[in-house]
Amino acid sequence: MSTQPALMRQAFLLGPRQLELREVPVPEPGPGEVVLRVEVALTCGTDLKTYRRGHHPKIPVPGPFGHEYTGRIARVGPGVQGFREGDAVMGANTGPCYTCTYCQRGLFQHCESLFDDMVVGTYAEYVRIPARVVRTNLFLRPPDLPETVAPLIEPLASALHGLRVLRPWHERVLVVGTGPLGILLAFALEQEGNEVTLVGRNPRRNEVARRIGLRRVLDQVPEDEAFDAVVEATGNPEVWEQSPRWVRKGGRVLLFGGLPADQRVIFAAYALHYEEKHLLGAFHFTPQEVKAAYELLVTHGTRLQPLITGEFPLGQIAEAFRRLDRGEGLKYAIRP
Ligand SMILES: [Zn+2]
Ligand SMILES: [Zn+2]
Repeated sequence: MSTQPALMRQAFLLGPRQLELREVPVPEPGPGEVVLRVEVALTCGTDLKTYRRGHHPKIPVPGPFGHEYTGRIARVGPGVQGFREGDAVMGANTGPCYTCTYCQRGLFQHCESLFDDMVVGTYAEYVRIPARVVRTNLFLRPPDLPETVAPLIEPLASALHGLRVLRPWHERVLVVGTGPLGILLAFALEQEGNEVTLVGRNPRRNEVARRIGLRRVLDQVPEDEAFDAVVEATGNPEVWEQSPRWVRKGGRVLLFGGLPADQRVIFAAYALHYEEKHLLGAFHFTPQEVKAAYELLVTHGTRLQPLITGEFPLGQIAEAFRRLDRGEGLKYAIRP
């Protein structure tokens, strides 16, 4: 067992736009768990939302936050298989229980206890990885995968879940929204052989998408084209309502960008009934998609480097969030 300090620094969210670094005890791994020394934590849209609102249904505030991570295993709890102290790893933030009624039906993204024990608090020197994540959704990080890219396994798994719901097959797909998820969705769609049009209004984000290699990035939806499928990735109710207009008859609309729980949206009955335009939703991911995200990162991960628009030491995490809050940058790498 290596020597470790008893205390570490961890970023706490205290309320809307209020961040503080605190000294807290280094976590101890319980049965089946590991504790990582965090190398990189990535900022995420969910974290930004929580930062702005000062609350989140699954993340207690005041409290630590952050859930995209890569690091080295510092301590291994009893009964862990397949991982040793010193291993570089990357993983998702949740894992299914495999026993609830949803898990028994293979609907792991709806596992009843999915968020009961998850990875939270990665803006820290150390973080505990729960047994259910270690068992299913933790992977060894290949030496040639950049540390800043490895944490993308989590958002990429969400994007791949979206694709599994949409089931595109060499089709013309429109993705609306150039946030990190819109870009990851477009990237994954292109990888699977679809003809992708990505649309976003922010020129800098569009430039990032082009640097990643996306072939067709526009600042407006072309009005004279009808797509086989549309992916809504803005989380804007007006774009949700517009989306069916952009698909051909019999096409599918994937409503990917989340809206507040009480938000209402209106769709034309004619489009859904006579034109057979199908509305689909996608939430979170299953272990199958985490594995697929891992494999995609191993083969093509370095291409995604432009998504990481800057790096900050943990001590300057507040600055990273101020920038995100102003709409600057896509994702920042936080290094303890
Ligand atoms: Zn995330
Ligand atoms: Zn379950």
